[in-house]
Amino acid sequence: DQAAIAVHNAQLYGHINEERQRLAAILNNSGDGVFILNPDLTFQQINRAFEQMTGWRADDVIGLPKADVIEWDKLENDDLETAIEKGWLKYTSHQERVDIHYVEGDLIRRDGMNLSIGITYAPLLSDDGRLVSIIANVRDITNFRRAQEMQSVFISTIHHELRTPIAIIKGYASTLRRDDVEWESSVIRDNMGIIEDEADRLTSLVEDLLTASKIQAEREVKLNVEDVNLEQLCARSVGRLDGQSHHNIVLSFPENFPTVQGDKTRLRQVVDNLLTNAIKYSPKGKTITVGGRFNDKSITVFVRDEGEGIPSDKLDKVFDRFYRIDDKLTRKTQGTGLGLYLVKAIINAHHGDISVKSTIGHGSTFYFTIPRD
Ligand code: ADP
Repeated sequence: DQAAIAVHNAQLYGHINEERQRLAAILNNSGDGVFILNPDLTFQQINRAFEQMTGWRADDVIGLPKADVIEWDKLENDDLETAIEKGWLKYTSHQERVDIHYVEGDLIRRDGMNLSIGITYAPLLSDDGRLVSIIANVRDITNFRRAQEMQSVFISTIHHELRTPIAIIKGYASTLRRDDVEWESSVIRDNMGIIEDEADRLTSLVEDLLTASKIQAEREVKLNVEDVNLEQLCARSVGRLDGQSHHNIVLSFPENFPTVQGDKTRLRQVVDNLLTNAIKYSPKGKTITVGGRFNDKSITVFVRDEGEGIPSDKLDKVFDRFYRIDDKLTRKTQGTGLGLYLVKAIINAHHGDISVKSTIGHGSTFYFTIPRD
């Protein structure tokens, strides 16, 4: 009998061990950070994802009070200790269904850097309602926060960019239709011209928005590929925009500039965007050069201006969606921060590259390169 009991116990022990290993594997392979606290709020266990998120190692943390490890730079609601003081555990122990407590904020990692996280605390209670431990699930919400931020930038940009042309159109239209004034035909023509320009601006804004949301949904730009002569295309863009600007715009292409395979409409959008930016972000009277060069493998087109330039730490960011440099010049210039984002997406769709070089006080040059085959 005793031997049978011993064998049975050994089997049970084996099962428990297996179960423990299974739980440890689940815990350690979870993408979310997990930590388990003792009832006195000291650490009982942490998993690998939590180590990676916070920079703390299990060996250093086990036994430490929670408050020594979970330090906040910014906290959006009550932390665990405050929730307990306010009766969270008392409340949950009388309930059938156990309530969770959610905390969100910027955690100070062990290396001093901040990380936006959300922690969900759930108490583990024994059958008689005693607190056995508190299980915490930690989620990195950096991307979620970024998306939220982007959405609010989006709304305020669109609000501003849509309202301005609409206000101008409405102003001119209601002036023209006043019954008590006889307008001269030249005045009518000029005002109609302004209304038309603003309507065009609205159209291109809506087109940019549609293209941007399409790129986001489909993750690519669809191209209608044909032979494109970029020298001609640039000359047309310059011709179109030259009349509206007060800059000295020059073309500088070598002889026999080769054609490439590409989408004419999209490439025109690229050149127009780079040229419009050069006009917007450099003073009147300065020179803007649109030029090209080529080798056996690729062609490069550049747009150079003599404006204020772009600080080196912002050079990558200007291609981000809705990104606008926060300086005096940009603030007084209209824009959505979508132009260069679209330019980059279009050039990438052509298997090309886009880059920018800039010297503060001397100007910026944007380059795009497209393979010749
Ligand atoms: P938008 O011009 O509508 O703001 P873009 O995506 O075309 O958006 O450009 C993003 C930002 O990059 C601009 O807001 C501006 O701050 C900066 N930028 C773009 N082109 C230039 C340039 N040629 N010189 C200086 N700054 C520029």
